[in-house]
Amino acid sequence: MSDIKFFEQVNRNFDKAAAYTKHPKGLLEQIKICNNVFHMTFPLKRDDGSIETVQAWRAEHSHHKLPVKGGIRYSPHANEDEVMALAALMTYKCAIVDVPFGGAKGAIKIEKRNYSDAELERITRRYTYELVKKNFIGPGVDVPAPDYGTGPREMAWVVDTYGAMASAAYELNALASVTGKPITQGGVRGRTEATGRGVYFGIREACNDVEDMGKLGLASGIAGKKVVVQGLGNVGYHTAKFLQENGAILAGLIEYEGAIYNAKGLDVDKVVQHRQETKSILKFPGATSTPKNAEGLEWECDILVPAALENQITSENVQRLKAKIVAEGANGPVTADANEYLLQKGVLIIPDMYLNAGGVTVSYFEWLKNLSHVRFGRMGKRFEEKMNTKILHAVEDLTGKKFPENAFQQIAHGADEEDLVNSGLEETMISAYRQMNELCKQHGGKIDLRTAAFINAINKVARAYMELGIFP
Ligand code: NAD
Repeated sequence: MSDIKFFEQVNRNFDKAAAYTKHPKGLLEQIKICNNVFHMTFPLKRDDGSIETVQAWRAEHSHHKLPVKGGIRYSPHANEDEVMALAALMTYKCAIVDVPFGGAKGAIKIEKRNYSDAELERITRRYTYELVKKNFIGPGVDVPAPDYGTGPREMAWVVDTYGAMASAAYELNALASVTGKPITQGGVRGRTEATGRGVYFGIREACNDVEDMGKLGLASGIAGKKVVVQGLGNVGYHTAKFLQENGAILAGLIEYEGAIYNAKGLDVDKVVQHRQETKSILKFPGATSTPKNAEGLEWECDILVPAALENQITSENVQRLKAKIVAEGANGPVTADANEYLLQKGVLIIPDMYLNAGGVTVSYFEWLKNLSHVRFGRMGKRFEEKMNTKILHAVEDLTGKKFPENAFQQIAHGADEEDLVNSGLEETMISAYRQMNELCKQHGGKIDLRTAAFINAINKVARAYMELGIFP
């Protein structure tokens, strides 16, 4: 599958949508291209004293809004084309969910499992140092985040290295140079599970559309729908968890080492525990197992959630897929050809650039928190609680009746950071879905959700260029 050019796939989808807009050709070309790509190679001293060279990239796709934003991935398959494609998706993603950033992405070409923690720390710090040297990181310039293979630990190394560099040492807003940090290092509550939670909200919105579900021969709502999830990492795990908690049947789970299936439902936490104990999801009690992980994508289900990597559903396997809804948790899991095939078959595809935008949305909240230097809810929580309590007591006095203790506490509760973050995320995912769906309906249902998402993104980015003008 390595011959599939990811950036070309993204641009094919872009061109399809651009045909529905009236923007000048040159402007569309400017929106589409990747502005800057920084390719670096640096040495790593391994624990055994040997020296190895490491390749890495940072691509900044569009500067129509600053800072630019996007994750850093560790992957042995990383390459320049992939980084540019992912940076482009970030531009469109931010526009779709009204996050005021341009798009970027970073990658380090390593197989994480082959390195010790100390080596990974040296790699991450050196990568950050290279970014600082070339002005490819900073709160108002370019703000990385976690992606495939990275998480809060790596983001803490990034922020520490950034803060330690001479020019940044006294920078008041240094914490805002990267998001997805541990909460104790300026992270925001709810960021770790944000992408998965957003994927859940997006699927819920789609499933609540009675008309769209009717076309698929499905009842509305998430409850009772059979789901298969590929990838049990940050995005896949949390998506599976939220879907399960809200009544979906987790029929299949797919990981590196294989796939498992149980039509009656799997418990994601028990599968994770089994994997920790046996180093594999295979042989999970009560489930059918296969070491051929790609086969899992073809299993019977209503909703397939690819949440691992790009180019998983291609012209090679698409004809064997049985899902009625493909919910793209990962970036670019469906190739452009496979996308067309699925659309013709009537499958509903909830596109990546919308569906996994919960991560960047909550990263935006974290960045705002870092710039304001105060935890969300700190100023208002107690005040809200006191006011709510007064209102409840007044109602009790007027009616002569007492609220049950539980209900009283729930209503009186003032919003804390997690409440506010989750509420902001839910609002974002709902309104972005409605914008997308509205566009589909305006086109008489002749365009799919991805095309609608692209049209929406192109219009927003084009508007920014037109209003700002072209420098000089
Ligand atoms: P992760 O590293 O936390 O998890 C990825 C998981 O996929 C791992 O458990 C890995 O073993 C598994 N995997 C790899 N190849 C597989 C295969 N062939 N079959 C089955 N499983 C396989 O990564 P993540 O952060 O969850 O990212 C996953 C995808 O979601 C990527 O496309 C990423 O760009 C996208 N994404 C992530 C975020 C985020 O906040 N982390 C946000 C938006 C989009």
